[in-house]
Amino acid sequence: MDLEALYQDLGISPQVYAYGEKILSGLRERFSAIDQTAEYNQAKVLKAMQKNRVNATHFAATSGYGYNDEGRDNLERVYADVFHTEAALVRPQITCGTHALTVALSANLLPGDELLSPVGAPYDTLEEVIGIRPSKCSLREYGVTYQQAGLLPDGGFDYEAIRQKINPRTKLVTIQRSKGYATRPTFSVAQIGELTAFCKSVKPDLKVMVDNCYGEFVETREPSDVGADMVVGSLIKNPGGGLAPIGGYICGTADCVERCAYRLSAPGLGQEVGANLGLMTAFYQGLFLAPTVTAGALKGAIFAANVYEALGFPCVPGAAEERHDIIQAVTLGSREAMVAFCKGIQAAAPVDSYVTPEPWAMPGYDSDVIMAAGAFVQGSSIELSADGPIRPPYAVYFQGGLTWQHAKLGILMSLQQLADANLVRPKAF
Ligand SMILES: *Cc1c(COP(=O)(O)O)cnc(C)c1O
Repeated sequence: MDLEALYQDLGISPQVYAYGEKILSGLRERFSAIDQTAEYNQAKVLKAMQKNRVNATHFAATSGYGYNDEGRDNLERVYADVFHTEAALVRPQITCGTHALTVALSANLLPGDELLSPVGAPYDTLEEVIGIRPSKCSLREYGVTYQQAGLLPDGGFDYEAIRQKINPRTKLVTIQRSKGYATRPTFSVAQIGELTAFCKSVKPDLKVMVDNCYGEFVETREPSDVGADMVVGSLIKNPGGGLAPIGGYICGTADCVERCAYRLSAPGLGQEVGANLGLMTAFYQGLFLAPTVTAGALKGAIFAANVYEALGFPCVPGAAEERHDIIQAVTLGSREAMVAFCKGIQAAAPVDSYVTPEPWAMPGYDSDVIMAAGAFVQGSSIELSADGPIRPPYAVYFQGGLTWQHAKLGILMSLQQLADANLVRPKAF
């Protein structure tokens, strides 16, 4: 059976397949640049693993207190070397990205201190952490105040406003690298470096934390290479390589990371406790795979933008734009098209492929939400997934794909669903 026939068995018509190949033929150069980044990052990860003499004893499970857990301690040295930082905290006890960010913030801000976001509003879940939306145990409840400076209309940094907001109490600056589910652009590592340098020129003793979620390994440098004191993220996104079933990381200066460890466990205990529960193979191997997994997800995002933009659906980032994270927004313009798109992604999944996604009233949202995910790890967004609120402009957010080939199939399946429902222009391809 040839490939086209196999695709037909999976539900892809010859027309959709041929259209995909046509789009793909224009993407060779960009894919080759992504492969070069992956090659660099693979070498960076390997160098860190070799320097730290990773061996089979590091994969042994520990339980209880986890004293003298050499596998865990060595993984943290590997992460510190990959991110070029003095120290790292990489733990299954960090339950998600929001938790990692909460630990980093609350460990490094004391009553009377002020937190500044110079890039506008932070990710939704951080609103309660900071106390922008009132919450028990927010930083605000502990006497930490917050200010933000919005971006300029063109998406650039408002340096004048940032300068004005920095005051003697400003202790920490938080920079979110990825746009997340907002409409602003994602920042490049170079831009984060400029912003970090600016903030420190106004107040040299400021600490800068970067929310690095979805950005890891997209470029050859990380925010910690350009002056950030802490970079923070989730292991069920890029750096877990799809294998980590839980976890988060904080890489940074020895002082910042020690405070984070004291906050995560207890003052005095810090990094000495925290059993690895048998997850070390997944954490090491996931990090080993992360550069190529991220590259596959990036190719999927670029392919999706090119497939859909050429059919008249607006995409953010645009088809030809440079990438700084793995998220792709596609504006489909109607509820029906969103449902069809998500059906296609779901139908392409290795897990739960027979399930039909339906819009539902998810708690905390003011409109129905639709989600497609057929993942090995629940909620993992480095695996192929799509979601979005059912309201104008009817945009889906598409991300992940542990392999480029799977991402490609998912996008072709989504297009097939749209074509079958007559939701793409007739004769568009
Ligand atoms: C995913 C994400 C978070 C939060 O991570 P969770 O694991 O969902 O808690 C924070 N910031 C950004 C930019 C993210 O993409």
